[in-house]
Amino acid sequence: MTAQIIDGKKLAESIKEEIKNAIAERERQMLPIPGLATVLVGNNPASKTYVANKIKTSDALGIRSFSYELDENVSLEELESLIKELNDNPDVQGVLVQLPLPEHLSEDKVMHNISPKKDVDGLHPYNAGLLSRKYSEPLFYPCTPSGIIRMIQSVCPDISGMNAAVIGRSSIVGMPTAMMLSRCNATPTICHSYTKHLDEICRQSDIIVAAAGTPKLIQGDWVKPGAIVIDVGINHIPDSTKPRGYRIVGDVDFDEAVKRAGAISPVPGGVGPMTIAMLMSNTLKAIEYRES
Ligand code: NAD
Repeated sequence: MTAQIIDGKKLAESIKEEIKNAIAERERQMLPIPGLATVLVGNNPASKTYVANKIKTSDALGIRSFSYELDENVSLEELESLIKELNDNPDVQGVLVQLPLPEHLSEDKVMHNISPKKDVDGLHPYNAGLLSRKYSEPLFYPCTPSGIIRMIQSVCPDISGMNAAVIGRSSIVGMPTAMMLSRCNATPTICHSYTKHLDEICRQSDIIVAAAGTPKLIQGDWVKPGAIVIDVGINHIPDSTKPRGYRIVGDVDFDEAVKRAGAISPVPGGVGPMTIAMLMSNTLKAIEYRES
């Protein structure tokens, strides 16, 4: 058996097309156009690439982008003052501070400063808190977990009753993904670096979401036959045959897992494009909160 490939790039294209059409329609009706502000601190090359992609995608969809690049040594006060300015700017509906931040800046403190109504990354403690409450809806769901759920539902719309192994418990990926799976009536097991018998947990899971940042952590024979496998990992492996000197792989041993899974997402071309598409979707949604 060879698994169905969950093509995140293709899925993301169709979501972006819908957003582009919705924005064009707003323009026709002379309604306000959403604006996304990106704040990049320092010179982390991966962060620079992610922010550049977000700006490029915003531009392609008709979202106005406001880009801010701050020095590595910017103070917390300066960063907070910029965020306050963006919170008050009526042309900006989404404020995104690219993580990770340099050591001297507390990510938690910085996130607290973003208005929950402009928190298009869905990482503000207010939105994270609402996500964890049974009868509440956050204003925004976090982007990568939203992309993961959309990918799973593209091959299996109803996952109620399924067991899911979520490998990783970060605030950005693992933990919110587990909460969203639970909201879809699946039963998540949250695994982390202290988890024992990870292989056994995976073998009992109908869904595996791998977000540890360790290449080939999930081996082919850990995958239950027919399971849905979503590989979130982005790992740079030295490769002299590539122009950049490295290639990007996920957390799953794809070549083996593809022989057992029912459906599997590749890296690259899986979760990455979906994360950006969900950010754009949140930015469009943010316009609803503009005057509320
Ligand atoms: P993180 O470092 O904050 O968290 C990693 C988690 O994995 C931790 O909870 C840790 O306990 C767990 N872990 C690490 N090694 C493990 C092991 N051997 N067994 C079990 N658990 C283990 O990372 P993150 O920000 O959550 O990102 C995870 C991965 O996903 C990274 O590779 C990152 O680059 C990638 N990522 C991709 C996207 C995307 O859009 N594709 C977005 C965010 C993160």
